[in-house]
Amino acid sequence: MRPEHYFDYAASTPLDPRVFEAMRPWLTERFGNASSSHSWGRRAREVVEDARELVAELAGAEPEEIAFTSCATEANNWIIKAAEKVWFSPYEHACVRESAMAVGGQPLEVDGCTLLPPPEPGLVCVMTVCNETGAVIDVPDLPAGSKLHRDAVQSIGKLPLGTGGGDTATFSAHKMYGPQGVGAVYAVDGDFPSPLLHGGGQEPGGRSGTLNVAGIVGIGEACRIAAEEMEGDQEKAVACREALMEILCGAEGVGINDHTMNSPFILSVTVMGIQAGTLVVDLDLQGYAVSGGSACSSESSAPSKVLLALGLASNQATATIRVSFGRFSSVDASADLGRAILATAARLRG
Ligand code: PLP
Repeated sequence: MRPEHYFDYAASTPLDPRVFEAMRPWLTERFGNASSSHSWGRRAREVVEDARELVAELAGAEPEEIAFTSCATEANNWIIKAAEKVWFSPYEHACVRESAMAVGGQPLEVDGCTLLPPPEPGLVCVMTVCNETGAVIDVPDLPAGSKLHRDAVQSIGKLPLGTGGGDTATFSAHKMYGPQGVGAVYAVDGDFPSPLLHGGGQEPGGRSGTLNVAGIVGIGEACRIAAEEMEGDQEKAVACREALMEILCGAEGVGINDHTMNSPFILSVTVMGIQAGTLVVDLDLQGYAVSGGSACSSESSAPSKVLLALGLASNQATATIRVSFGRFSSVDASADLGRAILATAARLRG
């Protein structure tokens, strides 16, 4: 498997070797519970607080506004399940949509691709960047008394959107070259809701559970690198995306689902007449990793709710794959992928 043939960065990024090196001591000779008062524990606490500063700096926040979690799914569940009235955009990741629906939340109406304001105040969940298409999502006007929650998983470390202007925001390490299994919540002024996980109250807001010190060091280092390299990463993504689009644009039965504002890290491609799942498997056999919509829904053959909400017809939605780029992608491999998609489509259509 060739790493430059991995085009599923929106599902999970490779661990940056520099992040691994920062984590390594905390997986080997350094250990201890960051809540212990002896020197092993205090040393662990110190690196956790260093990481908190790095996450806060990248997000444009203060360290006391950041709490660590086990992933963005937990982070979103925490914020949403503590709210009384929840509204959510129809573009949200399943962990936002399902959390919201579990507490009786309702979807926002849309006019075309424009989100309409909710009829009543509440917690309004609007992601910064759609994980399926890369669309940058605009926030509607909110009624007085509302709070804005931004799932910033697909923008943190990639686009300079920080917390997206939210009262709360959520991040995930493994979408930005950090380890899987670490997330973070931002809450303005450190105003975290009541905890989802009760226990020792180790983190701000009372979020409980022994801290994943190595993982937290990893998200901190990932944020430090992202702050330095965001511009270069963006240029690389723009070049790769353009190389792929150049091959695909104009090809018969191939559509690019671009939006007014799109993240350069994601390209949504519809290959009419071919089920996304079939194309994903065929490309996999050729050594390319792409995905059919989001990784969490890739087992389902039903059309993606998000793609339908973005205006695709059902037969287009089921024929849509997601290509996502990152730090270790290459322009040449992106063009190769484009040629592979066209050749595969021609063969499968017979
Ligand atoms: N939100 C968005 C937009 C995502 O793309 C994902 C993962 O695909 C998540 C939340 C969930 O993140 P995690 O894997 O950290 O739970």
